[in-house]
Amino acid sequence: MGRIQELSESLANQIAAGEVVERPASVVKELVENAIDAGSTQIDILLEEAGLKKIQIIDNGEGIAKEDVGSAFKRHATSKIHTRNDLFRIRTLGFRGEALPSIASVSEVTLETAVQSEDQGSFLSLKGGKVVEERPSSLRKGTKITVENLFFNTPARLKYVKSLQTELANVGDIVNRLALSHPEVAFRLVHDGNRMLTTPGNGDLKQCIAGIYGVATAKKMREIKAKDLDFTIHGYFSLPEVTRASRNYLSIIINGRYIKNFLLNRAIIEGYGSKLMVGRFPIAIIEIQMDPLLVDVNVHPTKQEVRLSKEKELSNLISATIKEALTDEVLIPKVNYEEVVKKSPTKKELAEQLSMDFREVNQPKTDLKFDAATGEFYIKENPSENVDNFVDSFSGKRVKLQEEQKTSEEQPTPITFDESNETNQFSDKVDNFVDNSSYIIEETVNNESVEAPKSSFPALEYFGQMHGTYLFAQSNEGLYIIDQHAAQERIKYEYYREAIGKVGEDLQSMLIPIVLEYPHDEWLKITERQEILAKVGIHLEPFGANSFIVREHPTWYEAGKEEDITKEIIEIVLESGQIDLAKFREDAAIMMSCKRSIKANHYLNDQQARALLVDLGKTENPFNCPHGRPVLIQFTNREMERMFKRIQDSH
Ligand code: ADP
Ligand code: MG
Repeated sequence: MGRIQELSESLANQIAAGEVVERPASVVKELVENAIDAGSTQIDILLEEAGLKKIQIIDNGEGIAKEDVGSAFKRHATSKIHTRNDLFRIRTLGFRGEALPSIASVSEVTLETAVQSEDQGSFLSLKGGKVVEERPSSLRKGTKITVENLFFNTPARLKYVKSLQTELANVGDIVNRLALSHPEVAFRLVHDGNRMLTTPGNGDLKQCIAGIYGVATAKKMREIKAKDLDFTIHGYFSLPEVTRASRNYLSIIINGRYIKNFLLNRAIIEGYGSKLMVGRFPIAIIEIQMDPLLVDVNVHPTKQEVRLSKEKELSNLISATIKEALTDEVLIPKVNYEEVVKKSPTKKELAEQLSMDFREVNQPKTDLKFDAATGEFYIKENPSENVDNFVDSFSGKRVKLQEEQKTSEEQPTPITFDESNETNQFSDKVDNFVDNSSYIIEETVNNESVEAPKSSFPALEYFGQMHGTYLFAQSNEGLYIIDQHAAQERIKYEYYREAIGKVGEDLQSMLIPIVLEYPHDEWLKITERQEILAKVGIHLEPFGANSFIVREHPTWYEAGKEEDITKEIIEIVLESGQIDLAKFREDAAIMMSCKRSIKANHYLNDQQARALLVDLGKTENPFNCPHGRPVLIQFTNREMERMFKRIQDSH
């Protein structure tokens, strides 16, 4: 006999199992996918010992006809595709015909199945892929498949299995995704007799989300719908206040198949812009329908990685849709009486319910990030900075900038509501706008031109400060508490971002030029990056071996701070070697806003506080500081009435 021989079927199956059946979760995935492909509307998943001892899947799908039962466990045997052409138009989750033989080769399997048209079902049991028993069964329509003693004959594989808890978490995760991908199917997952998950199976994605992530979370999710020539998108994404520490709560579903795709995940996050807290991720379920010709699912045996034509276009559509949906939202976290007072939850529960991780919020970690450029921690910053002066000079600058813009660019048109153009659904907003407009005029200080705030941001009437840290304000809608430092950061961030972007054009020469001296290695680096600096208005002339001379500076610099700001920007460029101008603007703006904002424990006088709120209302995103933390929270009128028992609770 020659040395090269064909592998036996059972050995080939075990090799394939290495790819398809890694752990209990992969078995569950393959079997549930088969049940979905069979058109089931109810799928029950019962596990013992995280699935290592037993996995049982019961479905009410079409079943397997008697003559096909034997073939189901044959390698490359499938009812789902027949020709090469079918491979390019896959509408089922399975098509490779390898799951059942692979699973059977590394476990003990029993299958009971019946189709409606036959009066008897079939029973088949296998051990290590070999048929042990075959007989008729009395099951009615559907399939019940049981996998026991997984990896009993592959000890090496068993070694790679992690703790029961980890394996169970993996099963839970995959069942979540399968359930989210098929809201028309009712799922039930039971582990050692404990119910872990149920979804209603009525086709409503939001109710399915509630079944998986909880009702409170589902309530804080918003729907998106979008369509272009190639893609139809539908789904839900969480408000920026509801975040998690990992990307694991992002689910992308293409034609009913949960897939993993880095670019599309990133597109979701990009849709949030600076509204997300640093290091936190949203929850989102995005269902995409597209022509199967545009997606190649035959890339990997687990079929979770796919190759997409027009991936970039799809990414852009997702980002833009989320971004637009968020622009219309009033992103002020609302304090909920039930959650905060009535049930008196622990700090941890509260954090979960409000989906704000208080531990992280309290850690200054994220703030320190931007001070690395100077090696200074902002908390330790020189307290002698005169806040009063700064607030005033700052407001003054803003006005100037706006005036300049007005003369150089076209007049900004005030927001007007033309009744005839408004559809009914907007009439509430119009009413609010009209009601609130009187506040706006009262609040306007410093003779600034009256600009209507964004319709989603409430007109705030300031009435007090606490601990030099929080501002209190009211509107028709209730009570607001504003973190004054976060508010300052947001205003300055937008100011600097704008200003730094405009610097190239407008320079002012100095009476006395600044001379900057650097160690030689830094001097060389700076020389290399001179061009980048020039783009943001810093023109350096080499002056001797280790120095530069600066004769002019962008007009937006604060008077008296020319040298400091120039040095700060050079340091950012030195540190990051950043050449992406947009990114540079953002980093520099965050750093400057952070350093130059009022810190906690600074008292503002009434006029300063009001000016701050007016400026806040004019920002593009008044709801979060540049690090994504909330700027203000709201107690709605209704919540206050409930807290003081002026109205009955709703139940
Ligand atoms: P694939 O799903 O790629 O076709 P599998 O090995 O997973 O391959 O399944 C083999 C075949 O067995 C399927 O094509 C299908 O005809 C049948 N089958 C498996 N599970 C079920 C089920 N739960 N209900 C009905 N038919 C099933
Ligand atoms: Mg399959």
